[in-house]
Amino acid sequence: MNNGNIGKNVPAGEVLPRACGSCSLCCKVLRVDELHKLGGAPCPQLRSSGGGCGIHPTRPSICRAYHCLWLQGGLEDEDRPDRLGAVTDLVSEGGMTRLAIREAFPGAFDTTPRLQDIAVLFRQTMPVRISSTRDVLDPDAPYRMLLPNGDTHEVSGEWTHVTHADGTTERLRLPWLERRVRRLVVAVRRFRQRRSLPRD
Ligand code: SF4
Ligand code: SF4
Repeated sequence: MNNGNIGKNVPAGEVLPRACGSCSLCCKVLRVDELHKLGGAPCPQLRSSGGGCGIHPTRPSICRAYHCLWLQGGLEDEDRPDRLGAVTDLVSEGGMTRLAIREAFPGAFDTTPRLQDIAVLFRQTMPVRISSTRDVLDPDAPYRMLLPNGDTHEVSGEWTHVTHADGTTERLRLPWLERRVRRLVVAVRRFRQRRSLPRD
């Protein structure tokens, strides 16, 4: 969430090892609830001239707080998200940490060897989740999870297609209770999305 020239907002006392420069990919790829901005859709506050955030002094707190993995010093210098084709983050949830790769365009992961190398590296120690922009308006969009044990999970709705490290496959369905919870979560997301979309 770029401020146009000096990178992210840096809290007092904190010095980030890198600056956003001309990157503003997270302003397109990520969701910003405060602005009713959907993930994958460019923020309406982005300057069309490529000059970064048009409301930088008053941008939402989540924009101020957000620092992608690269900005925090992760990955290599040349892996700036706009060059890589994806925004990457370390996400901690339920006591587990995973690498989240959010593609900037459909097929970014499959067509970018460097992204695949990054996934291989992180997968040694944590799950890697790859989210596509292909179905960005679908709150129940499919995603892929690469697990350290070599398994790949392709999750679509309540079904997961598992490819095991030995090449065998199986198709699993969420248990009854998790299916119910998931449907509720998706319904809430759809409701919020309807409120976010521009009206005709
Ligand atoms: S408000 Fe500014 S910093 Fe936040 S997503 Fe929009 S353009 Fe980016
Ligand atoms: S994706 Fe990272 S480097 Fe790019 S603007 Fe956002 S925080 Fe800055």
